[in-house]
Amino acid sequence: MMGGHHAASGAAAWVAIASTGPYTLGWYPLDAAGILIGGMATAGTALVLDWDHRHSTVAQSLPPLSNIIAVGIENASGGHRQGTHSLLGGAFFVVLAMVAGQIQLHTDWGILSVGAGVLCMFLINIAAKALKLFPKSGWITNWLFALTMAGLVTWFAPDQWTWLPVSMLTGVVVHIVGDMITTGGVPLLWPVVIKPPKFLRKLPLVKDVWKANGAFSIPLLGRAGSRREWLVLIPVSAYAMVGMCVAAWALGNVHFPAALAFGSSFMNTLLGTG
Ligand SMILES: [Zn+2]
Repeated sequence: MMGGHHAASGAAAWVAIASTGPYTLGWYPLDAAGILIGGMATAGTALVLDWDHRHSTVAQSLPPLSNIIAVGIENASGGHRQGTHSLLGGAFFVVLAMVAGQIQLHTDWGILSVGAGVLCMFLINIAAKALKLFPKSGWITNWLFALTMAGLVTWFAPDQWTWLPVSMLTGVVVHIVGDMITTGGVPLLWPVVIKPPKFLRKLPLVKDVWKANGAFSIPLLGRAGSRREWLVLIPVSAYAMVGMCVAAWALGNVHFPAALAFGSSFMNTLLGTG
């Protein structure tokens, strides 16, 4: 699956899990700030598994740190779509988020989520890059944006630290499912690789589901970037956008009621409905 599509499906999954309105799941209910910050973070956690080779967009996002980390992950996981795209690789990132989430400072102004801030410095920047939010940006823009996001997350993240591992688990599952429904498949049981016996490799259905290299796939969307993938991702992205906008509106209502009241009365005057 393409990077932007991973990011959009991550944000959509977070909106579904953390919101309680109609057409949502409400499994991990949060307030509007939690939905917004978690949505941006999960757009990033849904990309983190592709930090597994040095030439990926993720690897180039925050030089030189992101490049060094990419080489480390590449060496540990065996390269692209190998170790990170497995149950073990996914579990590693969830544990990392559990540790980072618990690094909080209790101050007079409230709880500062320092660990989440550092992790989200990478995650939200990766998401913005994959979604092409700043099309022509150099590394300075990326770093400024990433540091700003780190600050916002440190300050405004939900007080309960569990949101970060929940976001990571959501992103990792969404990513693995996304890659699994395109033709390449994923080595779910890595480092155990069970290749299909020779006589099965030629059977029509089996050869698509259980690949000769041991990867598993249910190629509903065809190859990565196919027309089918785009068709599915349009409503998924729209769902994420609507959810995030509703959360932003609710947040505005709580913190800037005067500004919003002015805005709507202005609109009413303009439209002649007030
Ligand atoms: Zn992938």
